[in-house]
Amino acid sequence: MYEFIYSRPATVVEAEALLDPNGDATALSGGQTLLPVLRARLASPSRVVDVARLSELKGIRIEGDRIVIGAAETHAAVSNNPLVIEALPALARLAGGIGDPQVRNRGTIGGSIANNDPAACYPSAALALDAVIVTTRRSVGAAEFFTGLYGTVLEPGELVTAVSFPRCRRAAYVKFPNPASRFALIGVFAAKTSGGTRIAITGAGYGVFRWREAEERLESGGSTSDLESAALPEDAFTSDLHGSAEYRMNLARVVTAQAIGEIDV
Ligand SMILES: Cc1cc2nc3c(=O)[nH]c(=O)nc-3n(C[C@H](O)[C@H](O)[C@H](O)COP(=O)(O)OP(=O)(O)OC[C@H]3O[C@@H](n4cnc5c(N)ncnc54)[C@H](O)[C@@H]3O)c2cc1C
Repeated sequence: MYEFIYSRPATVVEAEALLDPNGDATALSGGQTLLPVLRARLASPSRVVDVARLSELKGIRIEGDRIVIGAAETHAAVSNNPLVIEALPALARLAGGIGDPQVRNRGTIGGSIANNDPAACYPSAALALDAVIVTTRRSVGAAEFFTGLYGTVLEPGELVTAVSFPRCRRAAYVKFPNPASRFALIGVFAAKTSGGTRIAITGAGYGVFRWREAEERLESGGSTSDLESAALPEDAFTSDLHGSAEYRMNLARVVTAQAIGEIDV
């Protein structure tokens, strides 16, 4: 680890001031991604700004037909929260399946969404459900927020403050986990929303995306057996030591059928 200054501001305004867009300070939330990066000397910020205990980034509340989750809420808190379990049970189950107990008790939804790891679970729920990412500067729909491999529209110094999801009880997340890390080798969030059937895939390699052809087939009355011949965007899948692109594409079909089956029961 390179040396850095550790700061723990008391408010979001103080945090923003420390995260000067012209500097190289970085936000720290649960540290489950950032600390290994720092430990491996893959980043060398001069200042680390700890936002994990900011009360303004905490809280889970219902707002009309939406559930709003503060960015600093841990995966464990999301998975055990009665409001989430009632309004969006698939999200509670998704959060309860992330990593291991240590990761779930430190890692946060804001850190995960901001990091946009191509194998992370939350981005698939956000994209499938048209979640709104609330930041210190604006509110952005998930389709616009995620811009590819580890990419988001966040600008230097901009913090995620909350994620707002529509209530949806007809949804399911199924993950085929990497047995070592529990990250998704393929993860599928499927939902029946007022806008139609939504399928978002994570773990393919280059970042979360919607499987439009499968959505269209299911919307027009097709069954899960129709997914076997539905075209997948081949350039979204990658090969690495965990599996080939071909293997991941097959998994995407199988896991999507499982997720749809979980909704329909
Ligand atoms: C062993 C292991 C297994 C894991 N398994 C899974 C899994 O199965 N599924 C899954 O989805 N994830 C998994 N993860 C990742 C985990 O969910 C992390 O919690 C998550 O990626 C990052 O969240 P964090 O709060 O720890 O963020 P941090 O590590 O603190 O930060 C990550 C990045 O986000 C930025 N950031 C943090 N908070 C904010 C904010 N509020 N606004 C703007 N930027 C911010 C930081 O500057 C940093 O760049 C795993 C991690 C580990 C170590």
